[in-house]
Amino acid sequence: MAEFSFELDDDQKAVRDWIHGFAADVMRPAAAEWDEREETPWPIIQEAAKIGLYSLDFYAQQYFDPTGLGIPMTMEELFWGDAGIALSIVGTGLAAVGVLANGTEEQIGTWIPQMYGDPDDVKVAAFCSSEPDAGSDVGSMRTRAVYDEAKDEWVLNGIKTWATNGGIANVHVVVAVVDPEVGSKGHASFIIPPGTPGLSQGQKFKKHGIRASHTAEVVLDQVRVPGSCLLGGKEKLDERLARARERAKTGGERLKNAAMATFEASRPAVGAMAVGTARAAYEVALDYAKTRQQFGRPIIDNQGVAFQLADMRTRIDAARLMVWRASWMAVTGKPFDSAEGSMSKLFASETAKEVTAQAVQILGGNGFTREYPVERMHRDAAIYTIFEGTSEIQRLVIARTLSGVQIR
Ligand SMILES: Cc1cc2nc3c(=O)[nH]c(=O)nc-3n(C[C@H](O)[C@H](O)[C@H](O)COP(=O)(O)OP(=O)(O)OC[C@H]3O[C@@H](n4cnc5c(N)ncnc54)[C@H](O)[C@@H]3O)c2cc1C
Repeated sequence: MAEFSFELDDDQKAVRDWIHGFAADVMRPAAAEWDEREETPWPIIQEAAKIGLYSLDFYAQQYFDPTGLGIPMTMEELFWGDAGIALSIVGTGLAAVGVLANGTEEQIGTWIPQMYGDPDDVKVAAFCSSEPDAGSDVGSMRTRAVYDEAKDEWVLNGIKTWATNGGIANVHVVVAVVDPEVGSKGHASFIIPPGTPGLSQGQKFKKHGIRASHTAEVVLDQVRVPGSCLLGGKEKLDERLARARERAKTGGERLKNAAMATFEASRPAVGAMAVGTARAAYEVALDYAKTRQQFGRPIIDNQGVAFQLADMRTRIDAARLMVWRASWMAVTGKPFDSAEGSMSKLFASETAKEVTAQAVQILGGNGFTREYPVERMHRDAAIYTIFEGTSEIQRLVIARTLSGVQIR
């Protein structure tokens, strides 16, 4: 019988402290500069690559941690350092997971190393699913991939938007419609290799927060890729489509459940990012409240301030516990009967928004200026309730799971 424990083991603690060191010594001091520049922090990614923190090996080690806590721990520490820089670092991992989850061994071995490059020539990767008319409503996706049997090539056309690292990536993973008749089950993922003609960057967005992370449109105009770039391969796709067409006639419950389980397993990672940002802002606020004097005493002497800090810390710890529970459920194959993955993302992202706003308030005028980091953290925190499924979509998933009713 396994012993019950909330404690990280010694190896996990050592990894956590190592990431924390990089976040504190390299990321945090550079955060304000890259936020202002609104550019990908290539030198910082390179530094991370040099120590092995930006690498396939490190990411795979955390991904396959049998306790499930490797990824949440990594995310929390990196996003504690700085959310924009951290997203530039882990954005590649999101694309890599797309290949790990759906690719053949050969595809994994060929493409994931090219996503990272090497420490002397670092690369990034992008995962492109969202479109101008298909954000929350993934079923409205329009980018088409058509098979050219004579040449064994796929031809992709469409516009992707909001892609992290879109257009600057060495490898793009693009989700496209191969069979519009079966909704999202007719989607497939493709590798777009470096330098493929027809793929270009559209608009680069100027953002409210996480400004050190590059977000852009990706335009696909007659993009031709070899058949081997279809993740999972043609045979598997044909089998999947045949099953989807069959089930479409008889009601697609099992298919919906399979897709949902994947999201439930990946959402806690975003919750962990939010916990990192919330914790960072809380720590600044606690420190400030102990030192800032008004009315002849530190402002933390007032219950009005101290109780806010108590609530902030309580929410952060609750959010982390929800994230860890969902991550543990994912790795041990527990069914998400109450959409616990979505719950963790919802609660942690709303916590980050609330806690960073409270931190701004506790710092008063200083909190409103760029002299102090909580102003940036507050802007950064706004992303967590939007990407990887908005808070409203999380509530929809949770409510549908609990009730069995197809609530709209
Ligand atoms: C900085 C950033 C980085 C991103 N990175 C990536 C990436 O790397 N790859 C990628 O593919 N995508 C990425 N995205 C896209 C992101 O996942 C979408 O923005 C998100 O899914 C929401 O889609 P939308 O923006 O079109 O909003 P919409 O879907 O248009 O939603 C607008 C509002 O309507 C609400 N709403 C919509 N439908 C319902 C409903 N049924 N019930 C209740 N409320 C509803 C939403 O909750 C939201 O408040 C990124 C976005 C941003 C901002």
